[in-house]
Amino acid sequence: MRTCRTPRRRTRLAVAATITLSAALTAPAAVARAADGPPAPTPGAAGLGDPMFPLDGNGGYTVRHYTLDFDWQAPRTPFAASTTIKATARQALSRFDLDFAGNELRSVTVNGRTAQATRDGDELVVTPKSPLPEGSSFTVRVDYIADPTQIRHRDDAIEDYGWIPTPDGTVLYPQPNGAKLIFPCDDHPSRRAPITFRVTTPADLTAVAGGRLVDRSTRPDGRVRWTYDSEQPVAAQLVQLAVGRFRTIDSSGPGGLPLRDVVPDALVAPTKPYRDRTPAQLSWLRERLGPYPFNRYGVLVGDTDLGVALETQTLSLLPKADLLGTEVDAERDMVHELTHQWFGDSVALATWSDLWLSEGHARFYERLYSQEHGGDSFEAAMRTAYENHDQWRRQYGAPAEPTEPNLFKRMRYDGSALVLYALREQVGADTFQRIERAWLTKYRGRAASTADYLALASKVAGQDLAGFLRPWLYGATTPPMPGHPDWVVNPVVTG
Ligand SMILES: [Zn+2]
Repeated sequence: MRTCRTPRRRTRLAVAATITLSAALTAPAAVARAADGPPAPTPGAAGLGDPMFPLDGNGGYTVRHYTLDFDWQAPRTPFAASTTIKATARQALSRFDLDFAGNELRSVTVNGRTAQATRDGDELVVTPKSPLPEGSSFTVRVDYIADPTQIRHRDDAIEDYGWIPTPDGTVLYPQPNGAKLIFPCDDHPSRRAPITFRVTTPADLTAVAGGRLVDRSTRPDGRVRWTYDSEQPVAAQLVQLAVGRFRTIDSSGPGGLPLRDVVPDALVAPTKPYRDRTPAQLSWLRERLGPYPFNRYGVLVGDTDLGVALETQTLSLLPKADLLGTEVDAERDMVHELTHQWFGDSVALATWSDLWLSEGHARFYERLYSQEHGGDSFEAAMRTAYENHDQWRRQYGAPAEPTEPNLFKRMRYDGSALVLYALREQVGADTFQRIERAWLTKYRGRAASTADYLALASKVAGQDLAGFLRPWLYGATTPPMPGHPDWVVNPVVTG
C-alpha cells in the first residue's frame, strides 16, 4: 500500500493539536492588548484541533469566497493555477496558515502586496507585509504550478484521494482532506465558502464543476474558458471539478429541479438506464427527508477504475462500474451519494468524529431504498451488523469514537446505520422521521455535531434519548436492540 502521509511537527503545531475545535472557533485569541489600543497582532492557529486531523482548517480568519483559476493542459501534466481567497480576519493577524500540499508554489500576495510564504508539511504559512487588523477584509492570491497527478492513499473505504486522473483528464476525490492537494484552502468539513471555478481547456475538452455554468467563452487562441459558480457554500472535501471528453445531459427532476449528468462520450448510452433513476430516487428521498437542499443535482461518471463514489456537492462522482451494471446492486451507491446531499453536504460535519452521522444516514437510506426496490432485507442487514457490532467496536472504535486509521471502516457505515435503526426501534418510525426532518431543517447549511443530534432527538421525541444513544455511540459493548430480544452479538475474536 502506498502511503504519502508525512506528519511533521513543530512547536506551535503541537500546541494547536491540543486545542479543541470549539475553542478554536469561539475563544478569543490569546492576544496581548495594549492599555488602550487595538489588540496586538498574533499568528492565526495552524489548525482547528480536529481529533482526527488537528492541523486541518485554519484559525484567525474566515474564508468568504474562493476563486480557482486553472489553465488546464493535458492529463498528468502540470499547469498554471491560482487561487484567490477573500477572507475576514477574526483576530489581529501577524500571519496565518492555509492548508496546501504538494504543487509548485510560485508566489503569494496579500491585498496585492507580495507576502512571505513558507511551507511546513501541509501548512502554507503566510506573513503579510503589514499585519491584518481584526475584522478587516483581505484578499490572498496564491500562484502555483498545479500537479494533477497528486494522489494519497488510505487503507479503508476511501482508498485513493486527491486528483484522480482519467484517460483524457481528471476528476476530483478530495475526501477526507485531499482538497489541499488541489488548491490552498481551509481543509476541514465544518468550513464552507462559495467557490468560483474558472478553468481554461483545449477546445475539444469540457470542464465541469459543482454548481452552475455561468459562462463558456472561446479565447482568441482557441482555448475555452469555463466559469462555474458553486451557488452555495461548499466544504473543501466536497468540491468537484472535472475535465475530459464529456457530454453534459440536462433534464429535470421532481419539482422542476434541474438535473445535469456529466458523462464520458462513450458511456452516455450504456449508463442511461441507471442515470434515468435519479428522479425516482429524489422523489423517494424527498418524501422522507424533505426538500432537496441545493439548486441542482446530477452524477459525474468517472472514467476510472476507482472503486468508490463521493458525494461531491450537487454533482456526485460515481465510478463507471456503478452505472454499467457490472457492480451488484449499483443503485445503492447512487442513493447513498444522493442521501449525502442532505446528510454531510447540507448538514456538514462539525468534526471528523461526527462522520457516523453522515455515513450512517447514507447507508441507512441506501439500504431502506434497496429493500423497497427488490434488494436485500434491511432488517437482515441490520441483524448482521448487530451480530458484528462488538467486533467492530473492538477493531474500528465505537461509532462516534473513530481514530484516524479506522475513520472510514465499516463501523461508520453499517455499524452507524445500526445506531439509527436502534433509535427508530426505540421511538417508532413516526417520531424517528420527525427527528430526521427537524435535524435537516434546523441545521440546513450549517455544521452540526453528535451532541447536537442527541439534543435535538431528545427535544423532538420529548424524552431523554442521550441516555439511550450514548452507549450505542461510545460504549465498549453493544446494548440490547429494542424490539429484538432474540438478537445476539457474536463474541469478539481476538488475535
Ligand atoms: Zn458515504
